Amino acid sequence: RCVIGVLALQGAFIEHVHHLEQCIENDAGKCYGPGLEIVTVKESAQLWRCDALVIPGGESTSMSLIAQRNGLFDDLYKFVRDSSKAIWGTCAGLIFLAEELSTQGKLVKTLQLFKGRVRRNAFGRQAQSFTQECDFSSFIPNCSDFPTTFIRAPVIEKILDPEKVEVLYKLDGVGTGHASMDGLIVAARQGQNVLVTSFHPELAADIRFHDWFIKEFVLKL
Ligand code: GLN
Repeated sequence: RCVIGVLALQGAFIEHVHHLEQCIENDAGKCYGPGLEIVTVKESAQLWRCDALVIPGGESTSMSLIAQRNGLFDDLYKFVRDSSKAIWGTCAGLIFLAEELSTQGKLVKTLQLFKGRVRRNAFGRQAQSFTQECDFSSFIPNCSDFPTTFIRAPVIEKILDPEKVEVLYKLDGVGTGHASMDGLIVAARQGQNVLVTSFHPELAADIRFHDWFIKEFVLKL
């Protein structure tokens, strides 16, 4: 049995649960095999049952403070360092995983796993949120038109360990209509087991990103 946990302290966790469940339903045992289970994680006992953990979007300061106050922070710190676990952080989840934050976001206590420097709210305020069709076909087969949502999203400003981190996707300034966004890193993987994205694939009516996470990360553990 393989258990995928979704951290459920705060933020858009239920959307991840629904997408992952939809993946299992659609797959109907064809590729994934039997016994994949999705659970929400609010406490340590639930966390340690998991083989993979998705850290959702939301608000990274709150997420970190709640984890510190309810005693989960230290377990999360250990869990994400176990290379036999698959980890995926989206948006606030990416911020929470970052080794370094740019000056503006320094007050968040992070898990310091992802070897990158992350800039919070890189696209401006809530009103500057946007959806962008992205061509992910260089890493997800046949996925050239994925609708990604950026909500007060962070970007990966700098890769701190280029030997360990592979950039998966950079925004294309022409595609977004904003030349200033050209080349901003919004998706990366670190080794076999860690995935980070600035955007929210769980807010699209499209499960291809989650299906790829299950196949490429969770089932390859
Ligand atoms: N701006 C938020 C933060 O700094 C992240 C936003 C999101 O997850 N949609 O935590």
